Parts: sequence; structure tokens; C-alpha cells
Amino acid sequence: MITYSIGLKNKFRGITVREGMLYEGPAGWAEWSPFLDYDDGTCVSWLRAAREAAEDGWPPPVRDRVPVNCTVPAVDPEKAAEIVRASGCGTAKVKVAEPGQTLADDMARVEAVRDAIGNGNVRIDANGLWSVEQAVQNLKQLQRFDLEYVEQPSATVEELAEVRRRTDVLIAADESIRRAEDPLRVKKLDAADIAVLKVQPIGGVRACLEIAEQIGLPVVVSSALETSVGIAAGVALAAALPELPYACGLATVSMFTSDVTAEPLVAEAGFLPVRRVVPDPDLPKADATRTAVWDNRLARVQKRSAG
Ligand SMILES: [Mg+2]
Repeated sequence: MITYSIGLKNKFRGITVREGMLYEGPAGWAEWSPFLDYDDGTCVSWLRAAREAAEDGWPPPVRDRVPVNCTVPAVDPEKAAEIVRASGCGTAKVKVAEPGQTLADDMARVEAVRDAIGNGNVRIDANGLWSVEQAVQNLKQLQRFDLEYVEQPSATVEELAEVRRRTDVLIAADESIRRAEDPLRVKKLDAADIAVLKVQPIGGVRACLEIAEQIGLPVVVSSALETSVGIAAGVALAAALPELPYACGLATVSMFTSDVTAEPLVAEAGFLPVRRVVPDPDLPKADATRTAVWDNRLARVQKRSAG
């Protein structure tokens, strides 16, 4: 077991350092990296995903590369256009609803991205920050930029369902899906057109494939901000899905200041290759104190998952 520690270029989910564990099994390298604010019970499915990666490997791919989106944070329009052009991606995800900013800021940013990407796809992500009323009104304005979909316009599944009834923009559920049972609830309440699935929280590639089949909604595979070792699991899911109509949110190692390998899974011309990742021996390791924290955490979660 190796505990890694890697800086983030910008604060994300309130953190500036990403930590997690890596280990090798007969099938290859696995990553276990539940966020530190998650309780032990929540971490069990994350461990199941790691075990699958290390012990069983993943189902065979039906494609050898997967399309990914670039992500445009809540920056000014010039910077937004620059990010899109530099990425080479055919799909851009634009952050909107940033606290302290206005609809005019969102409009200007999305317009700049639409201009920069031409006929490509523009999706937006509100991270659940709009009320139903705000979402309906704002989408009416933003719709003119031909949105592919809006990710989590409002916070709850009930709110998503109401927004969905009142807008023509497709709705993707992201934050509403944090555990394996969540996608079924999203489906049951007709709350979304698209499900964002992440391998670790759901409990593995096979678990995600099963859910995709059960809910009958198109799936967008996203990362839980893993190193390239963990991203490879997301890529394996995207590669194994029978249908992959949307670009994936897997181009996230660029948010790290470094990675665990000199050959990271970064997008080239908007695609990630389908392959396993082997970490380098000199990867950025956590200090003894943090390693002990993770060793203890793993021992507790292992006990829980056995019991
Ligand atoms: Mg999101």
C-alpha cells in the first residue's frame, strides 16, 4: 500500500491536496481515494472498486479511446475561450452559478466558449447552486448558446425533477448520484435525462455497467478526482459501455500539480486512450503522519466491508 499526496492547482471541494492509496493486485494497480470528509460506511463501495481493479480487472472494452470534455472554471470570457482552444476538446463543460457572480457573467463566459468551440458541444454545470426558479429563468437565457445539457442545476432530486419539467434543456444528475442506490431514485422521479456515474462511489466498473443498464439513461462517466491510476478505471467503464453518446469528465489529472506516473492519462485532441496505468516508484508520497491516517482508515473500512 502506497499513500500518495498531490497538490491541486486550484482549490476544489474545499481541498488543496489530494490524498489516497495505491496498491497492486494480480490484475493491476488500483486506487482507493475516498474524500476525507466521507465516513467509513461510505468508503466501502470505494474499496469494492479498488478490489475490482486489483483482483478482477475490468470487462473488455468496445472502443479503444474515449472522448473527454475540457472544463472551464468561473473565469472571464477571454480566459474561457483560451482554455477551450488550448484543450483541443470537442466538448466543453462550463461552470456557472459561481457565488458572487451574476447571470451576465455566466452568459458572457458561455458565449465565449460557444464562439471558441464552434460546432462542438457546450454543457454547463451549476453544481446544484440554483433554486428551481433561478434555474428555469437562467436556462431560458443560456439556452440560446445551444446547450448540450445542464449538470445539476439545483441541489435535490425533487428540484431536478421540477426544473426538468419546466425547461427544454436536458438535465444531468451529478451530485444527486453519490451512492449505488441514487441513480434508481433519479430515474424513478424522472429527475434527469443523463446520469453522471463515477466508478469509486458506485463500487466498480461492473456495478456502474449494471446501473447503466437498469436505469436506461445515457451515462456520462466522470472522475472522482483520481490520479491516472484511478482515471484508468473510469476510462475502462467508458470503454465498456455499449453506448457512449457524450464526452466523459475524465480529463481531470490536469487539475493536479503532478501525477503518480510520468505517462499520465491526459487528453490528446479530446480523447483519452484505453489502458492501464502503472505508477512510478518515485511517485509523490504522503509523509509518515498522513500515511498512518490512511493505513488506519483502510483498516477500519476493510473491517466494515468484511462485517
Ligand atoms: Mg458536476
